[in-house]
Amino acid sequence: MHTDTHLFTPDYDVADLDYAAALRADSQPLDQSVRDQAAHWVQRVRDNASDEGPVASLLQEYNLSSEEGVALLCIAECILRIPDSATVDSLLQSKLSGLDWRAHSGRAESWFVNASTAALLVTGKIVTPNPKGAWNSLVQRVGEPVVRVMVRKAVAVLGGQFVYGRDIKAALKSAKKEICSFDMLGEAAMTDADAQRYLRSYHDALDALCTQPDQPLHQKQGLSIKLSALHPRFNPHQKDRLDVELYPRVQGLVIKAAQHNVPLCIDAEETERLLLQLDVLAKLAHDPAITPSWEGLGLAIQAYHKGAQQTVDFVADLARDSGRRLLPRLVKGAYWDAEVKRAQTLGLDSYPVFTRKADTDLNYLICARKMMEARAVMHPCFATHNALTVAAIAALGSDGYEFQRLHGMGESLYAIAKPKVGVRVYAPVGPHRDLLAYLVRRLLENGANSSFVHQIADDDIPVGAICQDPLNDTSRAMHAPHDLFGARTNSLGFDLDRAPHLARVQAAKVPAVTTVDTSASEARAALDRAHGAFGSWNEAGFETRSQILLAAADLLESHTAEAMQLLADEGGRVLADGLSEVREAVDFLRYYAMQAATMGAVKVLPGPTGEDNHYWVEGKGVFLAIAPWNFPLAIFLGQVSAALVSGNTVLAKPAEATPRTGLWAVGLLHQAGVPHDVLQCLPGEGPVIGDALLGDSRIAGVAFTGSTATAKRINIQLAQRDGPIATLIAETGGINAMVVDSSALPEQVTRDVIAGAFQSAGQRCSALRVLCLQEDIADAQIEMLTGAMQELRIGQASDPATDVGPMIDAKAAGGIRQYLSAIDANGAQRLAETPLGVFGDDPRYVAPQMWRLADNAMPDREVFGPVLHIVTYQSNQLQATIERINDLGFALTAGIHTRSDLRQAQFARSIHAGNVYVNRNQIGAVVGSQPFGGHGLSGTGPKAGGPLYLTRFIQERTQSTDTTAAGGNAALMAGG
Ligand code: NAD
Repeated sequence: MHTDTHLFTPDYDVADLDYAAALRADSQPLDQSVRDQAAHWVQRVRDNASDEGPVASLLQEYNLSSEEGVALLCIAECILRIPDSATVDSLLQSKLSGLDWRAHSGRAESWFVNASTAALLVTGKIVTPNPKGAWNSLVQRVGEPVVRVMVRKAVAVLGGQFVYGRDIKAALKSAKKEICSFDMLGEAAMTDADAQRYLRSYHDALDALCTQPDQPLHQKQGLSIKLSALHPRFNPHQKDRLDVELYPRVQGLVIKAAQHNVPLCIDAEETERLLLQLDVLAKLAHDPAITPSWEGLGLAIQAYHKGAQQTVDFVADLARDSGRRLLPRLVKGAYWDAEVKRAQTLGLDSYPVFTRKADTDLNYLICARKMMEARAVMHPCFATHNALTVAAIAALGSDGYEFQRLHGMGESLYAIAKPKVGVRVYAPVGPHRDLLAYLVRRLLENGANSSFVHQIADDDIPVGAICQDPLNDTSRAMHAPHDLFGARTNSLGFDLDRAPHLARVQAAKVPAVTTVDTSASEARAALDRAHGAFGSWNEAGFETRSQILLAAADLLESHTAEAMQLLADEGGRVLADGLSEVREAVDFLRYYAMQAATMGAVKVLPGPTGEDNHYWVEGKGVFLAIAPWNFPLAIFLGQVSAALVSGNTVLAKPAEATPRTGLWAVGLLHQAGVPHDVLQCLPGEGPVIGDALLGDSRIAGVAFTGSTATAKRINIQLAQRDGPIATLIAETGGINAMVVDSSALPEQVTRDVIAGAFQSAGQRCSALRVLCLQEDIADAQIEMLTGAMQELRIGQASDPATDVGPMIDAKAAGGIRQYLSAIDANGAQRLAETPLGVFGDDPRYVAPQMWRLADNAMPDREVFGPVLHIVTYQSNQLQATIERINDLGFALTAGIHTRSDLRQAQFARSIHAGNVYVNRNQIGAVVGSQPFGGHGLSGTGPKAGGPLYLTRFIQERTQSTDTTAAGGNAALMAGG
């Protein structure tokens, strides 16, 4: 094995079940003595329940499946950062009302749990309208300010328990009897300023740790660092920057730790960052500037990864190659929910992590055995609170390693087990305001209920069940990540952060397509053919057409990489955008195919005896599908496939800027079995084709997506023609807003605003245009956004490192620049701008930027580019702000970031928007999950990718037959 990360390919793509089977084959059953030992410890921990630490008792009392437990942690997550009373009150009211705090009162053995419960019991009842009025009179007596103070106090107590010390000095003071690895963390760095701040806090911590008396390494307090805290862009596509900017920061810390013989561990992160971590570790291990005899360099390895065993081998080989003894820490894994969600969101065919807890436990033991065997070159640290794991490891050896546990957890287990080796405590250090939020969120994300800490304290679970050999576990693995939608296969994706996946995309060629603009007479001739083809296509039936769409979906899916190249080449779509667009197109094809399959059946309707009633649907005739350039594949194919599967013939007009994509997609549909006259592609100028066709009464309907102005023009042209009234489905623009109150987490807001406003260079109809910030937090939020905007990378669409590519053409970019000059002349203030660098000379590029209009005004039109407007509001003006947004007349997407359920509900109820997003970004609607489309000036509906879309493409028929004339109702006559 090599320690070159280019040659390191973890087993992530091995199918989940295959991997689990291999794992079982590699595992040995646990000895009876190990299981007996663990069972004995578990029983003793239970017998001494009152000795359990406060954090464990709290988790036990408020287990995360109880509403009270979740409410308590949600309050703890945010209350300390909220500056204003109105937001605190809204939060408390929404989290505490209606919950049963009394059920938890006095039940736990820990004073701390009872004290917290008492505070919440009082406050919970205060805000709960109580029919008997007793508590209402209490709230009148003590008043809201007292309630706020009490809850803050309760959370501060909670913070004191979760957090080891507010700073390193306090932490060192409390660590007199324990050996710790201090974790100085809050959130991941979003800006360079954040990264510099974290770097300083790591240095400060090390300076304090360096003053420890000279002792053997394993008796010294150590530090854990997170690489994503030291650089705001710790992701694989920014490797060139990381080599230059991140490595020296880490190196400086490690040199210091080595000089003073302080252990330093690189903490675990998400899968896509593993190779970057190994790369840094390999450089450090070989770095001659780092004291060669120092043996304190560590890396956390997560056993829930399919790549964990290979990572252990990598670290052992690295230690051998570099001649440096290493200090790796084996953990179960900290990002399980996030890993599973990411794999599902990307539509991957396997998970990088195990989905059965027992598999992780098995892998942990295999990794542990490997590490114990490599003790000549490493000193393994085993972080676990699982009695069975502790017993199994203790049976492997009695020296040359150490155990680790989290602060507040596993205390009594280790006190009882008394292992022969040391037990180090992983201890979070930092101000409660930042750290508590982070720790609590991780707890909520990782649902602590299935964890050993939780089970050990739950007397209802028999000791034997807890100490069962994981080899005997029979629980089922989770369905594959792309199997989300039951019978409808989810579109398959790539993980562009993984080299083998990216290589497949980069190896694909842009398909060669040549297009010629369609003339008016050619368009009319196409209409003749489409009209002629309607009858037989409509007769072919829903089932046949649905099968053709499914075949087209498979065909497109097998050409995903080429389609991405075409989208980058013609439409300037960066690779990630291209990938999600191809997947959306595949989803549309399958979604409409599945719907059509059930829609086509003739339905028998009830009626009086002697009468047969039938209902069925069929196509309307010829549809004209007109698509925009910003989703030249997904929207184009969505319109076309919905019209086709319903029985219509289609004239498909791609946008002027993206004819090749349209023609290529039509070619795929022909290949899948759609006859050529049934679907014809008409690239060319919109008005030329529109004028040629819209006045013709044989056009039964138009499916249009584009600007509001064009939709109006088409509507008028259709209205003015003779003949039947045509169907018009128009999806148009929006001025989309997001509201952020003071309970929101600034880092999450930053991530979502940057994606919403600047992904695809702001050229999405759903993109965020107006960010409405509560005044109390506006300055800090703007500062963080400004910092994050400096980190965005401008580049070519086909370069995987690019965050923001070009605009569709120089004309569109020029339009944005004109708008900016106009608002500038009107007194608007530019708050921030991403540097364009070498792309400043290219007229197609516009820098992502953030503006505040004069007088805190809203923009008066849709600005279709990377321009974000900031508006501020006072905390009591939420409703007024919603109304200001509604007054714009559009109703496409809207978002809110708040921890208050009441405000979420108020927003969703009163904002005018087809798609509302809470605590997330507002782009990237998924077919069948977030049916997409607006109303008002934003469109007619029905929503694309939703249950009613096809209904606009069909006409309904019924037939009612009097059967008495033909012998009547035989059954009735026979019965009567
Ligand atoms: P656009 O209105 O300029 O063009 C859209 C399509 O209409 C193009 O194919 C164009 O050739 C065609 N067209 C133009 N004039 C025509 C005419 N007289 N007759 C027939 N066809 C004509 O819009 P665009 O600039 O391509 O797209 C950006 C706009 O689309 C933005 O306003 C955006 O918000 C909107 N959009 C909306 C959605 C949605 O789902 N609501 C999705 C994507 C884009």
